[in-house]
Amino acid sequence: MTRQFFVGGNFKMNPVSREAKRALVKTLNDATLDPQTEVVIAPPSLYLIPVLELLRKDVKVSAQNCHTKTSGAFTGETSPAQLADAGIPYVILGHSERRTLFGKTRAALDAGLRVILCVGETLAEREGGRTQQVVEEQLQAVVALLKPEDWSRIVIAYEPVWAIGTGKVATSAQAQEVHADTRKYLASAVSPVVAESTRIIYGGSVTAANSKELAGQPDVDGFLVGGASLKPEFVNIVNARA
Ligand code: PGA
Repeated sequence: MTRQFFVGGNFKMNPVSREAKRALVKTLNDATLDPQTEVVIAPPSLYLIPVLELLRKDVKVSAQNCHTKTSGAFTGETSPAQLADAGIPYVILGHSERRTLFGKTRAALDAGLRVILCVGETLAEREGGRTQQVVEEQLQAVVALLKPEDWSRIVIAYEPVWAIGTGKVATSAQAQEVHADTRKYLASAVSPVVAESTRIIYGGSVTAANSKELAGQPDVDGFLVGGASLKPEFVNIVNARA
């Protein structure tokens, strides 16, 4: 089975002006993007709607977070139902808080969203030889509550905490090892079919320069890009397999 290459741009709390946001969208709109890659960008929530309106239609838009409830007295939050109603197809969920991951993933799927599920170990956990254990624990709670058909709407992002925003990228061998072990875990905890079809993407200091080698690993199915998603080199990362 071939898994479609996936590149997500996580803008985080950037850029700072509407003009800069328009310029980022224009760069993408003008670029030649590998049609084989699924490209998703996640601007700050304030910019979701204008980006959706301005952006070329072959690039999708993602929220960076959502709440578990549909509506209510939750100051500063956005619900999965609001995102779905606004035509936002994806949401990035995660970090290492398992219970948050658990409840939010179910709520987002129930609202019809696709989920980019972030997992990954800290430096201390890696140095303690506990990387795979940590990743599996983070996935476990989600695995337990998903139905087989939910998996087609999940993208797993392996993001070692020590690599996020640090300039310290995992080596292609390190990434491949965790991705392959995670796929093995999915095969036994869910099913071989889900393991084979679910995209496991890498995040943490991805740049145009290191993306080609990472993209050449058999179990690296794409990227979640932070810093470099705000630069023209994002296009090269989208085209890393082309
Ligand atoms: P980075 O961020 O590419 O800036 O390291 C990755 C992420 O947090 O998704």
